[in-house]
Amino acid sequence: MIDTGGFEPVAKSGIAAEMARQARQAVLEADLVVFVVDGREGMAGRDRDIANELRKTAARVVLAVNKTEGQPRATAVADFWSLGLGDPWAISAAHGDGVADLIETCLPQAPEPVEQWIPPLESEAGIVDRASVGADSESGSIAASQSVAQVAATNAADALATTRPRRIRVAVVGRPNVGKSTLINTLLGEERMIAFDQPGTTRDAVSADFDRGGKSYTLVDTAGVRRRGKVTEVIEKFSVVKTLQAIEDSHVCVLLLDASQDVADQDAHIAGFVLESGRALVVGINKWDLADEHQRDRIKVEMARKLGFLSFARTHFVSAREGKGIGALMRSVNEAHAAAFAKLPTPRLTRALHEAVERQTPPRRGMVRPKLRYAHQGGQNPPIVVIHGNALDRVPDGYRRYLEGWFREKFALQGTPLRIEFRSGTNPYAPST
Ligand code: GDP
Repeated sequence: MIDTGGFEPVAKSGIAAEMARQARQAVLEADLVVFVVDGREGMAGRDRDIANELRKTAARVVLAVNKTEGQPRATAVADFWSLGLGDPWAISAAHGDGVADLIETCLPQAPEPVEQWIPPLESEAGIVDRASVGADSESGSIAASQSVAQVAATNAADALATTRPRRIRVAVVGRPNVGKSTLINTLLGEERMIAFDQPGTTRDAVSADFDRGGKSYTLVDTAGVRRRGKVTEVIEKFSVVKTLQAIEDSHVCVLLLDASQDVADQDAHIAGFVLESGRALVVGINKWDLADEHQRDRIKVEMARKLGFLSFARTHFVSAREGKGIGALMRSVNEAHAAAFAKLPTPRLTRALHEAVERQTPPRRGMVRPKLRYAHQGGQNPPIVVIHGNALDRVPDGYRRYLEGWFREKFALQGTPLRIEFRSGTNPYAPST
């Protein structure tokens, strides 16, 4: 979904013209354009200009007449037939009238975004395969003792594990001035994109594709990207909502910090968002060129103290402006992505669980000792390990963390959070009797 900032076909210069340029770009890229007109104001001359342009450039256009609440449909849309864009839809965005119908009718006709969910190629499995190094050969040994429930769980986990998106969606996050735009520009090459953040205008949430080192990426919410010098004034404000959206929309987040500054509360907050969202993460300490020996030592100590909870993520010292360290940073992005979508087969997970329990049994709580029986994968991005057994509500947090570390190491899950869920007693995979 590309929400364009606005469309002023006649503007020749200034921000309105830039926005129109972006809107045009969005129209060219879109499979379907929803053209929204104001039903209360009635038809404006500009609507006709835009319609003329859309007819020439858009793949498909749906005309939505907004603000029609309380009006009979025929009256509300009467004016707009003459735009020649087919049957106008009467909607009220504020009240939600007609919106679901519009979506249901129009969206299925748009092509599926197939490239997002192509199963991994054999040769692409790279890091996922490496995750199995150290684990002994699969299947066989456990089969004899496998219950129906375990087989079902294996099948469920294996079905789930066939989907690793080929295009890696990356969000660059961080507080203002840490160098996000500079990094994005470095990644995209020359100034490919412009976005504005002006009070009173809708900021574009634009994504941009690029390839690097044989891999394909999409940068999500590149709103920080701008062409320096050509835009005299760009008002930028830190938007928590935008940051959250970008994190949600990504597979891997790159959290940028500024080596020339102390680690701020805001850095920790953003890191907290990433952790909560369960997204894979790589930390880039930017402006490394500016930091002297003393500052470099200081930021390392501060990272450990204030951002210790990010220990699952790799940290890189980079200079976005000089393009230094970016290759290594992106290799960690690939690694984190592979870890986030890693396939954790049930037999190997269960074996790893048994090894962990053998090495250290969960502590007894009162009269009961929790019994951890087997594990299967319950999700990806982040990987979820579901452990089945008895009295699992008695497993203390410390033991959960021990298991997390154990699975992380066994399956080489560098760069992604890992979730552990316990399911006691009733087994969702058990055959119904
Ligand atoms: P954003 O607000 O996070 O998008 O930050 P910008 O990309 O706009 O960068 C803020 C300032 O830091 C700009 O003046 C950049 O030129 C500067 N900057 C960004 N990266 C580096 C870097 O690696 N080294 C140095 N010395 N300055 C940088």
